[in-house]
Amino acid sequence: MAVPTLVLATRNEGKVAEFKAGLAGLGITILSLSDFPTCPEIEEDGETFSANALKKARAVFAYTGLASLADDSGLEVDALGGAPGVLSHRFAGPEEDDAANNAKLLALLSGQPAEARTARFRAVLALVWGAGKETLVEGTCEGRILEKPRGEGGFGYDPLFYVPGLGRTLAELSVGEKNSISHRGTAIKNLRPVLAELIEKGELTAHAHRGGK
Ligand code: IMP
Repeated sequence: MAVPTLVLATRNEGKVAEFKAGLAGLGITILSLSDFPTCPEIEEDGETFSANALKKARAVFAYTGLASLADDSGLEVDALGGAPGVLSHRFAGPEEDDAANNAKLLALLSGQPAEARTARFRAVLALVWGAGKETLVEGTCEGRILEKPRGEGGFGYDPLFYVPGLGRTLAELSVGEKNSISHRGTAIKNLRPVLAELIEKGELTAHAHRGGK
């Protein structure tokens, strides 16, 4: 019998490793866009995490004919009305880097007391396994924005994102510790039972397949 297969709509090897670890033991073959080098880049121009994740998963499903999983994520700061949100990656401008994004965030929150600096990371995962066969799951990680960075690990806004329950920023956690509490880690945990049920029903077994290595 054919093995159920899932394509991750990313070329980011860090994300691939996190998804493979989080979905281990389901008996599913996990591929990524590295296995489909000619799959076109998909622009993230939606207004919500869900719209972006669905757009990517639909495009990769259309290209590969295989069940596809895409994610979109970002930081929501309450005092900024949920910004930077879907613009997290390019908050300080399209050519800017993590340091510029963090500097802009600190400038916008300048003078705000700790209790007004609440924020969360949100990750949305979109799974597409057929025409009209789509589902979304999400995960969040609650915290607050510090006044200056702490820690060397992680990426993006991690050094400014303090998790009160742990007394540390995300940049002060090991990869395993971060994955166990992060927005993406939680979303992956929420996806497991959904995938397990689809596998059980034989829904993820490959029929069409193109563009692969
Ligand atoms: P993407 O979902 O990988 O496109 O991430 C969008 C942006 O959100 C990243 O470039 C970061 O700025 C921010 N972001 C998402 N997840 C994290 C995280 O775990 N730590 C820090 N920043 C993150």
